[in-house]
Parts: sequence; C-alpha cells; structure tokens
Amino acid sequence: MPETAFFHEGMLVAVLTTEPLGRALDYRAPPGGCFVGAFVEVPLGPRRVMGVVWGPGEGGFDPAKIRPVGRVLDAAPMGDAMRAFLMRAADYTLTPMPAMLRLATRAPGLADPPGPRRVYRRGRGEPDRMTDARARVMDVLDEYGGAAFNLGELAALAGVSTSVVKGLVKQGAVAEEDAPRDLPYPRLDPGLPGKALAEDQAAAAERLRAAVASARYGTTLLKGVTGSGKTEVYLEAVAECLRQGRQALVLLPEIALTAEFLSRVEDRFGARPGEWHSGVTQTERRRLWRMAGEGGVGLVVGARSALFLPFRDLGLIVVDEEHDTSYKQEDGALYNARDMAVLRASLCDAQVVLASATPCLETWVNAEAGKYARIDLTSRFGTAELPEMRAIDMRAEKLETNRWISPTLAAAVRARIEGGEQALLFLNRRGYAPVTICRACGHQIGCDHCDARMVEHRFLKRLVCHQCGETKPMPETCPSCGAAGRLAPVGPGVERLAEEVAERFPDARVAVLSSDLFASARALKEKIAEIAGGGADIIIGTQLVAKGHNFPLLTLVGVIDADLGLQGSDLRAAERTFQLMRQVSGRAGRSERPGVALLQTCQPEHPVIRAILSGEEEAFWRAEAAERQAAGMPPFGRLAGIVLSSPDVQGVFDFGNELARRDAPLRRIGAQVFGPAPAPIARVRGRHRVRLLVKAAKGVALQPALADWVGQLRPPANLRVSIDIDPQSFW
Ligand code: ADP
Ligand code: ZN
Repeated sequence: MPETAFFHEGMLVAVLTTEPLGRALDYRAPPGGCFVGAFVEVPLGPRRVMGVVWGPGEGGFDPAKIRPVGRVLDAAPMGDAMRAFLMRAADYTLTPMPAMLRLATRAPGLADPPGPRRVYRRGRGEPDRMTDARARVMDVLDEYGGAAFNLGELAALAGVSTSVVKGLVKQGAVAEEDAPRDLPYPRLDPGLPGKALAEDQAAAAERLRAAVASARYGTTLLKGVTGSGKTEVYLEAVAECLRQGRQALVLLPEIALTAEFLSRVEDRFGARPGEWHSGVTQTERRRLWRMAGEGGVGLVVGARSALFLPFRDLGLIVVDEEHDTSYKQEDGALYNARDMAVLRASLCDAQVVLASATPCLETWVNAEAGKYARIDLTSRFGTAELPEMRAIDMRAEKLETNRWISPTLAAAVRARIEGGEQALLFLNRRGYAPVTICRACGHQIGCDHCDARMVEHRFLKRLVCHQCGETKPMPETCPSCGAAGRLAPVGPGVERLAEEVAERFPDARVAVLSSDLFASARALKEKIAEIAGGGADIIIGTQLVAKGHNFPLLTLVGVIDADLGLQGSDLRAAERTFQLMRQVSGRAGRSERPGVALLQTCQPEHPVIRAILSGEEEAFWRAEAAERQAAGMPPFGRLAGIVLSSPDVQGVFDFGNELARRDAPLRRIGAQVFGPAPAPIARVRGRHRVRLLVKAAKGVALQPALADWVGQLRPPANLRVSIDIDPQSFW
C-alpha cells in the first residue's frame, strides 16, 4: 500500500465534495484516521456535506482554521481505479469533478448511521375496510413484489400520508420490521449448467471466456442478428468473471430491462442479480451501491448510470444494444455510457463486450481497425429465420386522404390476424398528429416557449410540446385568425394510426406502445408481457418496440414511413434509419414461424433503403464510413457541440460571436469553429439557443483546448454554456 494511503489523525487531507466548488478542500483527518478514498462527512460553512478523501491536503492556509473531518461513513472507501475513472471521465467530458462525484453517489441515505432500520413490506393480514388510499398502498406493495420500503418512500409512491401506512400496519396488512441494513446479495452460481450452445455460439463463448480469464483490458464487439443468442453467449463471459471472483456489470437500455431478462439470468445462475434502474426502491438502491463497494454483489444488471457504481473489483462490462441512443446522457453531465464503459474497463483490467445486431459506426470502425476484437453470430438460433424484407412503393399505392396503411400492407395484416399471428405497425411518432393547422389562415399551432409545433395527444385531450413538455388544451378557435372550428390535424402519430386500424380491423385487439401512454416503466413492462403472451393482434408502436422484446407470435412488421428518418440533415440520419429498420424488422419471426417486414417508402431506390432490404450490412457500413472519412467527420475526426442558451437573444449571440472571434486556443490544435448559428430548435422553455460546432482532427488534445477557449470569457449570469464532446444529436 502506498504511504499516502492512510492518514493519521490530524494530518491534512483534501476532500472532494459534491458541492459545486472549484477544487477539493483541506480538512484534518479525524480521530482514528482515514484511508484515501474514504467517504466522509465534513463541515462546510454551517452545513455538513458528503465527500471523499481524495489525497493529501495542499496546505497553504492558516492551519488554525482548518477543520477536522466530521466522521467517516460506514461504506467501503472508493478504490484507486474508481477515482482514476472519475477523473479521466471528467477530463474527457469536461464535467466538473463535483458533478462526477454526484453521479457516483446517486443513492439515498449514504450518510445514515449503521444499525438496523425500520422497513415496511407486505404483511400477512388484509385491510378490514378498503379505501382508495389503502388500495393504492397495497398496489404499490404488489407492484414491487416483496420489496422493502422506508415509510416516506412507500407513502410517496402510493400518494398517501404516512398515517395511512401506519393504519395498515395496525391491521397486519403491512408488516413493520427492523431489518439489518444492506445485506449482501445471494451468490450467483456460475457452475450451474447453461444452455447447450450451438457451434458458433460455443466458439464465441469460448473466446469471451478466454478474454475474461486473461484479467486484462480488452473490448470485443459481439455482433449478431437479433435472436442469434448474443445474450446466451455473453452470460458465459459473466460466468467466467464470477468464477474468477470478480464482479460483472450488464448495461441495458432502461426499457430492455425486463422481467424476462432478469429471469433468464436467474435461470442461468440460480439467483437474481442486483438491479439498478428507475423502478428500484431507494432501500434497494442504497443496498446495491454499498454492496458494489464491498463486493457483496457479483452481477449487476442496470441502466446507464450503473456504470458509476463503486465496484470493488469489476472484471467485465457488457453493453447490450450498444448502438442504443439512450446510452448518451443528454443533460447534466453529457457522457456516453458505451465509451465510458471502455474507459472504466481500461483502468481496472476488465473486459468489455459490446453487443448489437446493428453496432454504431464508431464501434464498427474500431473493430475494422483492430482496436476491438470482433465476433459474429450470423444465424438465428434454432429454426427461427430472419424475416424476409420488402419495400412497398407508396408511389404506386392508392391511399385515401388521412389514411396511412397501404392496401398491400392492409392485406398482409389481415392474413396474419386470420392465421392467429401478430402484426406490428411501426411509426416513430408519438401522439395523434404532429401538426395542427388552421384551415382558414394556415397558422400552425406552436409552443409558447419553444420553437416547436405542438403535437396533438387525443388520449390526453391536449396539445403537447415534445421539447419542453408544456401542454395546453386544444383551442376552439384559431389563436391567429380567430376562426372557429377550422383547426385540423395534419399527418399521423401512433394514436391516429390506431384510429385507422380500429376502423379497418374492427375485430382485432389493438395495443399501442408509446412511452407517453404508460404511467411507469413497470406498467409498460406489464403491457409488453401481456402482448408477448398473445394479448393483442395488432401492435402499434414507436421506437420503444425496437428494443429487445421477444414477441413469439409476431410474424409481420409494417413500417408506416421508412423515409421518416432519412429527412433532416443529421450526420447520423442514415445510420439511425438503418439501425432502427433492422431492429424493428428483427422483431418478426423470432420463433418457429417465419417473419416478413414490409417497408412503406416513396424512395425504394435510396441507398439506405436498398441496404436495409438487401441485408448487405457490411457494404452499408463501408459506404457510410467512406463518406465520413472523406468529410473528416466522426469517427475519423472529432466534434464538440457547444450550446449557449439564455433568455436574452442579443446577449447569447454576442457571447457566441465573441467566442468565435477568440479562437486562438483552437487554432493552435488546428481545430475549426463554426457558428454561432441559431440551433435547429432555436428556443426551448423561453431560452434562446445558439450552437457552435468545433471540428478537429483525430488524435489532437481537443478537451484542454476547448477548456482554454471557453475559459477566456466569463458568461453573463443568465447564460448557460454546455459542451458536448462527440455529440450524438444536434438539436
Ligand atoms: P439475442 O440476444 O442475440 O437477441 P438471445 O440470446 O436472446 O439472442 O436468444 C434468442 C432466443 O433463442 C432466446 O429465447 C434464447 O433463450 C434462445 N436461445 C439462443 N441460444 C440458445 C441455445 N443455445 N439453446 C437454447 N435456446 C437458445
Ligand atoms: Zn415547448
């Protein structure tokens, strides 16, 4: 252990807190001393805040004024690799360290003293009399299975006062107990037999096993069509990691974290993994955070932010559906969990597995260049076959106005329903209609706070701004010309498509899967399970359905508007369309019955549509990579997006112009700055948005140059500067 690793009482230590201060603060080590990495509580002005002992203090202050650390918290100290990771991630994303520490301590009650605590869970008794409030409490208890809550959380989730819960305790319907805090998770047994693997699966699993056994850093792209058994294969890598006595993390897009997935893990290892996502109780969050640090959990399955858990000895990170855009955190600390997974693994001798049917171009290029290993699974497991894909040329189809399902597609849907199979109609547009127009004056109803059109949501009976969430009732008269009864919806959203489906297939059971139609992630997951069990004939869905769900009866996918993603000037438009269409089509025919995917398009000759239909993926990636390379765009060049926003339109442009003028720090590394220009969405929540784009060659030290550049000017108080390294979206 290095000499600085322990600080005796009274020694100066630097403590990093989650408070937005420029640097770590000096304190004196408390009685009993403390280790580097210790979680501590320190006085800050009149308050006590949480922090981490980051290293020796810097000194240089009046020694008499330096206060002692309040106390050392009952949690495993943060390891060297974790601290190194947070610092490197902060440098990479230009995020201040306190914000990084906040990401790494997102569990409630970390500062609570040890000892048992009072928890509430489902009791044996029943309420004598059911009231609305009581029913809500019982619902929450059922919804979370056997989970334990603290009193405040249970009351808040049920939307009742704590006295309602207490009343249920008296009747025995809720059990109140003193539970020991934060027990370790049941041990997962890697020795249980997995499924018998097919030949290519076994070879893939063997390579991953060997990589994990090497206990060195490495990244592998595991590319395989949906249904090829990627999950079965990477679970073997997890098994090896557990055998080595190290911890494993499987990251999934939040929405793919289904009960089905968790029970697959349980089947394989005989116990449930630690879960980290928005549907986990605070009690469980705290337990998982602490057990990650103490080594009391072997496998964690989680959403993006699980990457910031303080694992004691992480040996493997799997990023499933690695192309998924939800891995990019788009507000606060702007990080891409996929890239940060690679960084974290490289600092703790861990392996990374990036699994996808349609990897993002960056990953594909890294594999081509030999930076990542690559394993391909080319066929679906068992008898399941890839769906046949065809275009429906909409120029040749006859459609009435306000109808979006072509006769060809309608006939295919009808045939499926009659055969007792399911059809999915895919339209990536929430709500009823994307635009509401006045037939008298042509006015389109927009958001009062944003530069966006309001989207009609009939289900909510309101207009909704998809930028800021503002809603308002549908007006009776045109807000511009005052004409009554002339407002009309233009274009389809999933709700409107559902209306068409109900008219044309009156006997079919229809399910609409759109994120805004479900109150909670759990409600959505239940719906998905119901559909998978045959509870619907026609599924209408947004991109929500593209992600990893298994609908065994689904044999037809109809894409209502395959051209939708090809419009717009986004750098990644082609890539995104390609991924989305392949993913959606991959939903069809996942079990014995063969599937068909039909794409409605007005441009069947478009290179992206052709690549989707022909299935020549490598050709698509090669062409796309060549285009990016010629333009010096990522991953062959580097970008940083700068968004300035302020209620003051003149002020924000002035600041942007001044930044653009002072580009010397950027020119020093040969980088160019473009803009300022109004952002595509030029106003959000009353703030005017201006973008600058910095483009640099690969391999230059971009972040320090950006920091120097932006650091030259102090922004006015009402102006926010946000820097997005490797931006994924440009709104
Ligand atoms: P992917 O992750 O590539 O979409 P999965 O691992 O989910 O594929 O496999 C698709 C389906 O096939 C799952 O239901 C899975 O249990 C099944 N499966 C895959 N490989 C095997 C195998 N070797 N033995 C039995 N079932 C398998
Ligand atoms: Zn708005």
